[in-house]
Amino acid sequence: MTRSRGRKNGTLFYELHCISCGKQVRETESSTRCPACHRPLDVRYDYDYIRSRLNRYSLKTSPVKALKYLDFYPLLNLNLVVSMDEGGTPLYRCKRLAERTGLRHLYIKNEGANPTGVFKDRGSLVELTKAKEQGARAVCVASTGNMAASVAAYSSVAGLPCYVLVPEGTPIGKMAQALSYGARVIQIRGTYSDAARLAEEASARHGFYLAGDYAFRVEGQKSQAFEIIEQLDWQAPAAVIVPLGCGTNMAAVWKGFKEFYELGFIDRLPRMIGVQPDGCSPIVAAFQQGSEQVVPVEKPFTVCTAVAAGDPVDGQKALTALRESGGCGVILSDAEILEAQQQLAHLESIFVEPAGAIPIATVPALLTSGRIRPDEVVVCLATGNGLKDPKAALRVLPSPATIEPTLAEVDKFLKLRLYDLRAAAAKDGGRSIFDQVPSQHKVSQSVQEELGVKLTADYAHRVTTLVADFVRKGKAITKADLQYIVENVLKARKEERPILRVEDFQVTTSMKGKAEAKVRIRFDGEEVTAAAKGVGPVDAVVNALKSAAESRGKLFFDLVDFQVEINSPGTDASVETTIIMKDTKNNRVVATGTSPDIIVASVSAFVDGYNVLWSRQKE
Ligand SMILES: *Cc1c(COP(=O)(O)O)cnc(C)c1O
Ligand SMILES: [Zn+2]
Repeated sequence: MTRSRGRKNGTLFYELHCISCGKQVRETESSTRCPACHRPLDVRYDYDYIRSRLNRYSLKTSPVKALKYLDFYPLLNLNLVVSMDEGGTPLYRCKRLAERTGLRHLYIKNEGANPTGVFKDRGSLVELTKAKEQGARAVCVASTGNMAASVAAYSSVAGLPCYVLVPEGTPIGKMAQALSYGARVIQIRGTYSDAARLAEEASARHGFYLAGDYAFRVEGQKSQAFEIIEQLDWQAPAAVIVPLGCGTNMAAVWKGFKEFYELGFIDRLPRMIGVQPDGCSPIVAAFQQGSEQVVPVEKPFTVCTAVAAGDPVDGQKALTALRESGGCGVILSDAEILEAQQQLAHLESIFVEPAGAIPIATVPALLTSGRIRPDEVVVCLATGNGLKDPKAALRVLPSPATIEPTLAEVDKFLKLRLYDLRAAAAKDGGRSIFDQVPSQHKVSQSVQEELGVKLTADYAHRVTTLVADFVRKGKAITKADLQYIVENVLKARKEERPILRVEDFQVTTSMKGKAEAKVRIRFDGEEVTAAAKGVGPVDAVVNALKSAAESRGKLFFDLVDFQVEINSPGTDASVETTIIMKDTKNNRVVATGTSPDIIVASVSAFVDGYNVLWSRQKE
């Protein structure tokens, strides 16, 4: 069976037109921008042709997925379809979020369930099929990360090499995907818009098929609207909320609704609501000013990297969707978005990347302002999977405590509720609490208020001593510092009499030579001194401590790992060091130390670890 399509008179059933000057463009000439005025193109169909070929029965009975809507795509040779069975993503009824927000019929379309974790796979289906139809030899794409991963995966299915241009700082999950699918990735020291411009220029010069936010992608991404209608039992929702980057997806979803309206599958259209973070909101700004002109944002800055498109290719199309549909635009802060991301995961177990939480984050404001009503059916697009950018979520989450592999340690963790302690400090950890040495009473009070922990007098004394050490070094104590100090004190093993204690140390270091350290310790009560060199100050001190300890005790060990985590911004930040030590019997210990001074933090971790290993050796 031949699977090529076209009208009887030999002409195509669709045409490409410039959205600005209206010029008709042959797809062999360009399917990205108008050759005359450089504006985006749009696909116009002969809907009578589509209507005549449509099998309504199979459309209404077969399960939802992007491939069932082939009649709505501008594809000519169905033998060449490049698919990973995308679409068919769940439309969740969010009961708990509905209760929390007061919006009774709240749905989430979980686009993170697509093959590469983002709705863009629907567009890549059409785009890569067109690349095959046109006999492309290689594909090139600019991306903030998700398009890169998606186009890389589909290029690999198509058997085409893929060149990817991303801005520096692209989230690691997306980068790992693109690289794993075999893309040749180049990082640009610039913004997404720089990458997009270069991709267009490089493709023109080297004859690559240019993928991206262009007309064919729009056609593929329409299937989100088709599926929403089907999943709502062939009804249109009252409103659909979409995050805006280049605006392409908004244009696609709106076009999908209009087509199903045109073909009589629904009898009304939803309002389209577009949302951007305040660090990059050119489209919504234009909408709110009633302007046709989308003024580019020079330096987008937002945790929602997926929508950080300062000069959005399809700004115009997105504006049209907002206006035609009687919708609106909203601007949100990163903090609101990250909070919604957590809420979505906590209440509905849907883990999205920050951009995917943008729609849900706007619901309260939309309700308050009356732009959506509590009884309306509203669909939020959860555009991308949370695993793509885990670091963004971790910014507001407590890092888990590390304990020894014993039940006693687990008990202690539960009893001291160390998870609550960490969660308390994950929020606004940079806030300053003490800038001078506080009294023990004051310390107890603050620890209780800020971290919800009641310290016994003994613990309060030790926390106060450490706080005083910090302050004497000239460091204001932030909430995060206080949490680390309290945690270290609570976790510290109360050996009756630790075998190793550090009395003092001295390090000298310079730009060119090796660092040198002298240490004075007490080993089993006896004073020992030692000196050593190292590649840096921490290395030198640790070497000196090791040599001092090994000169007395018969405990031989290696440092297996050494990690430093900086808990707050600034050169006066407090650091937490984690050392993993292993003795000759393969006993391992994980020890931590915290101080604004990286050497002090390392020394305290080392001493802690040594004492644990020592007590194990005796057992
Ligand atoms: C690409 C993307 C968007 C924005 O879509 P545009 O078509 O650029 O407006 C939103 N969320 C995620 C997760 C994306 O990958
Ligand atoms: Zn034009």
